[in-house]
Amino acid sequence: MLNAVEQGVGRTGEPAPLLSVVMPIYNEQEALPLTVRRLRPILDGLGITYEVVGIDDGSTDATPALMQKIHQDWPEFRIVRFARNSGHQAALTAGIHRAFGDYVVSIDADLQDPPEKIPEMLSLARERDLDIVYGVRGDRGTDTIFKRRTAGAYYWLMRKLVGKKMPNQAGDFRLLSRAAVDALKAMPEHQPVYRLLVPWLGFPSGEVVYVREERVAGSTHYPLSKMVRLAVDSVTNFSASPLRLATWLGLLSFVLCFALGVYTVVAYALDKTVPGWSSLFIGMLFLGAVQLFCMGLLGEYVGRIYSAAQARPAYFVGYDSAEGTDPATARR
Ligand code: UDP
Ligand code: MG
Repeated sequence: MLNAVEQGVGRTGEPAPLLSVVMPIYNEQEALPLTVRRLRPILDGLGITYEVVGIDDGSTDATPALMQKIHQDWPEFRIVRFARNSGHQAALTAGIHRAFGDYVVSIDADLQDPPEKIPEMLSLARERDLDIVYGVRGDRGTDTIFKRRTAGAYYWLMRKLVGKKMPNQAGDFRLLSRAAVDALKAMPEHQPVYRLLVPWLGFPSGEVVYVREERVAGSTHYPLSKMVRLAVDSVTNFSASPLRLATWLGLLSFVLCFALGVYTVVAYALDKTVPGWSSLFIGMLFLGAVQLFCMGLLGEYVGRIYSAAQARPAYFVGYDSAEGTDPATARR
């Protein structure tokens, strides 16, 4: 059941701020102070009411203590602490569900997304009455060739699945209006992938181009395994066509086997038979591989049905500074 904060009732007596900046933070003890130093003057300079929702995704370094200190010094910096590490997308989900603002901007904590673009996103949205403003990565020069190539393939595939309304190279640096946030909140999606769900909404949108900078400090928390996970989640969230692939592979191997059969008969008739071990073996291996592949595909979907049926929450909030609980006694 949603509590008052998740229902968006807000802090008692305080009106909702105009802007919420949602920031997933996981073991960012080096980067966070630099991010705060750059972000705060920009937000203060806007002359509007705002909050920063720092989602501590179960950090195990000095980040929690650091966030507490930032919160004391900067009341607009709100802390939402997860009981354990639940992943970047879960942190975004919590941010979207708990932000109070009329506009919600999500941004990384490592300064790869320049906070200087936030005012631009906000004024674009307000001037043109947009529900979504994507931060589009104009230049990925600081990323490794490997990251650029895999990202290129990912966005190509996603645009095939979601359609052209998905902007190329738009990650999780974006602005959402209250209407878009409420639409996302209403979706019971179990493992949402927002960079696909948001364009799927089809709400009026604009773009702000930015240069993806180098991480200021620390190292990435997105190893290859998490990238693969995100890609598999993205595909299975948006399409059942991989299941159809199984049918096509089955048909293809039937045709191949038939051709091989014809060849064998002809070779026998012409008395040109060669000991058939290799072709037999290749055929067996091929069919085995096709079957295992299709079982794996089925497994992906069955697994998703399984976890949707379990309906476990994607995260547990141990502490939210907006709820006024005592951080010392809060669940950790
Ligand atoms: N992050 C998180 N939980 C995780 C991994 C990452 O909240 O399990 C945060 C991280 O602190 C950062 C953002 O998500 O603010 C993006 O992560 P990262 O910079 O490691 O990914 P990359 O930019 O290399 O893709
Ligand atoms: Mg990063």
